[in-house]
Amino acid sequence: MTTGTTWQEANTNGAYQQALERIAQGVSAERHEIGLVLSPETAGDEFGLLEAAHNARLGNMGRQVHVRGIIEFSNYCRQDCLYCGLRRSNAKLRRYRMSPEQIVEAAAFALEFHGFGTIVLQSGEDPGYPADAIAYVVKAIRQLGPAVTLSVGQRPYEDYELWRKAGADRFLLKFETSDPNLFKELNPSTTLDERLQCLMNLRKLGYQIGTGIILGLPGQTRQMIICDLLLLKELDPEMVSVGPFIPHPGTPLGKAGATAKRDPARLIRATLRAVALSRLMVPLAHIPATTALGVIGKGSRDWVEWAGDYILKVLGDKGGSGWRASAGDWSDPRALALVCGANVIMPDVTPKVFRDSYEIYPGKAGSDGEELSGTIKSIRTMVQNLGMSIASGRGDSPKPQFTAKRCPAESRSGITGEGFGAGKEV
Ligand code: SAH
Repeated sequence: MTTGTTWQEANTNGAYQQALERIAQGVSAERHEIGLVLSPETAGDEFGLLEAAHNARLGNMGRQVHVRGIIEFSNYCRQDCLYCGLRRSNAKLRRYRMSPEQIVEAAAFALEFHGFGTIVLQSGEDPGYPADAIAYVVKAIRQLGPAVTLSVGQRPYEDYELWRKAGADRFLLKFETSDPNLFKELNPSTTLDERLQCLMNLRKLGYQIGTGIILGLPGQTRQMIICDLLLLKELDPEMVSVGPFIPHPGTPLGKAGATAKRDPARLIRATLRAVALSRLMVPLAHIPATTALGVIGKGSRDWVEWAGDYILKVLGDKGGSGWRASAGDWSDPRALALVCGANVIMPDVTPKVFRDSYEIYPGKAGSDGEELSGTIKSIRTMVQNLGMSIASGRGDSPKPQFTAKRCPAESRSGITGEGFGAGKEV
């Protein structure tokens, strides 16, 4: 594919456009069509995919961006995933564990800076927290106002049940890859079946569930990615997360040599295409512009010209010229994700003393000493430059079972036509 070709000049391919339309309309999810759409041969086709996803996002989720604050409260982990810096075999990591009180304090502190509608609590799989310690934290943070998303890995049904009763609204647990063999290879201490069973348990308990994949894992084939997308469609989760693989030198997949042939620009574009297809195949999902995407963007500028052409196409001169004028803003591909299907961004609000040690992969955005107020400001600028606004409210799934339950009186009367958490402009 040629870079620098403007979208108007680029050829489009009839079969590609047809498959894209069928997927966008929900008419088809044939493997060969997903495969075709995943690998466009012209810039015009690729932009067509991204723009179709952007339109689906606008149609289903509106123009707003949900900003969720994430607290990474412990980096202890009982699992030994080959890609992750928190794996238990990584002896070089300085481990930390915030106390329940520290976690609640961190949430309160973050909420002073920004009215986050959701606080996400993430950790390694840390058996150091009994279920009732997490329940205490959930309850206390819910009392401060926001919705709570947990992302603490695989736990027994009873724990999930306790946390749900304590007020946890959502749970994020990525299946990472839908291929059972690759999963087992990369996550030797668990299985894909066990992970999917956890997701089923969470769904049964009434959580809004989030799941997703890592893109660009060693051993991951195109056929596997097609299966990933089909599994996402089948699960129909309320949140979908697609992040690029970033090698960590303290893991078996980050050893020298394994990373020699990496091309960040290619991976960024492949990730954006997978984000776009996720939007088309799971239209009502909240989709984050992932932190990992922000991180690989720092290592490459090769995608920037291409990104400029796309921004110009999708936003017109208004967005394009503003973006072209401020070169600094181009270094973050999360902005691109927000115009090809994604509608959520999750700044790290972990207290600074711990932040650097939550090293899933190296170079995490926000771990470079950035202050929270500065982070919020740059997100606001990014969102404004895209002609979008930051949503207020919890940002629940727009599916009726999750909006109606929050405010039965309002949904019964039908007066406002706006469910709780639909989010007013700020
Ligand atoms: N223990 C929790 C949180 C894990 S960390 C859980 O299991 O859900 C959150 C996510 O980071 C993981 O789901 C994985 O998709 C991602 N991740 C881990 N290592 C990564 C790497 N090297 N590159 C990109 N993403 C990674």
